Amino acid sequence: MLVVMQHQASEEQIAGVVRAIREMGLDAHPMPGATRTAIGVTGNAEAIDATRLESFPGVLELVRVTKPYKLVSREMQPDDTLIELPPTCIGAGTFTIIAGPCSVESEENIMEVARELTRRGVHLLRAGAFKPRTSPYSFQGMEQAGLDILAKAREETGIRIVTEVMDAEHVSAVEDAADILQVGTRNMQNYSLLKRLARSRHPVLLKRGMSATLDEWLMAAEYLMAGGNRKVILCERGVRTFADHTRNTLDLSVIPPVKQLSHLPIIVDPSHGTGRRDYVPAMALAGLAAGADGLMIEVHPDPQNALSDGAQTIDFEQFDRLMESLRQLAEPLGREIN
Ligand code: PEP
Ligand code: MN
Repeated sequence: MLVVMQHQASEEQIAGVVRAIREMGLDAHPMPGATRTAIGVTGNAEAIDATRLESFPGVLELVRVTKPYKLVSREMQPDDTLIELPPTCIGAGTFTIIAGPCSVESEENIMEVARELTRRGVHLLRAGAFKPRTSPYSFQGMEQAGLDILAKAREETGIRIVTEVMDAEHVSAVEDAADILQVGTRNMQNYSLLKRLARSRHPVLLKRGMSATLDEWLMAAEYLMAGGNRKVILCERGVRTFADHTRNTLDLSVIPPVKQLSHLPIIVDPSHGTGRRDYVPAMALAGLAAGADGLMIEVHPDPQNALSDGAQTIDFEQFDRLMESLRQLAEPLGREIN
């Protein structure tokens, strides 16, 4: 349920409604808007008669939220969420690039990537220190040593770091090194991890589970928001289908419904979405055209020798060509690359 306050409602009136909601054993989520504050109500609101809130001073109306996800829904928050990470941001009509190798491989490699990206005005570097690999015999990531390298790259170049956190026990270590915490496809429904990340001050990039429906994905995002983290970024990275010409089927058709149903930003990962570097540019451009808020792309100075996901990774020359095509496409679409 949403309690919409009158636009002239005072701070005390808002606080009074919040207090009353909490006294009913429900959770109150005040959301200041451009013209008025609204207060999201979660918890088992159906079981409680909250209609008495209607007569509270400063209340304009109560709106029932019909979707199973509440805080994530556009019914609850009509305005797009904008996640600010100065000098960049994600969401609300901007188009932001996150790029870097699949894994942290060495200090030299990450420092080189950080410098190459910074030189190109890319402010977000991705690279995994904890790698969820299908085979236990594959490279599992550099773990804490990898986090230290990412922290050093941030310190020396000012680039912001996006990296995966696989377990609740590693959250604070990853928070120290990263600006955005990535939840991988295999962990989208790891609810204890989501509950822990809900208490983080860092934005969370929530990849879509490889066989998750849109509702399941948005409900996973709801776990983050219900626990207090409003900074959620959705990432479409392809789903499992019968098709075997690509690693996954990049579901760009999910972007319009996400935009309709939710205020959260959505970015596209054409690297995991296709599994092949020659398909990455086409799907990256399609993501922009379909209305995504940005891209996450695997880039490496020498993809042939990358320690993971080399086949879907582009080099900096290909990255430059892609950025040029994105800029050209952005203009007629009325979009701007961040
Ligand atoms: C990754 O981004 O490197 C990754 C492991 O992605 P996903 O969880 O989408 O497979
Ligand atoms: Mn990868």
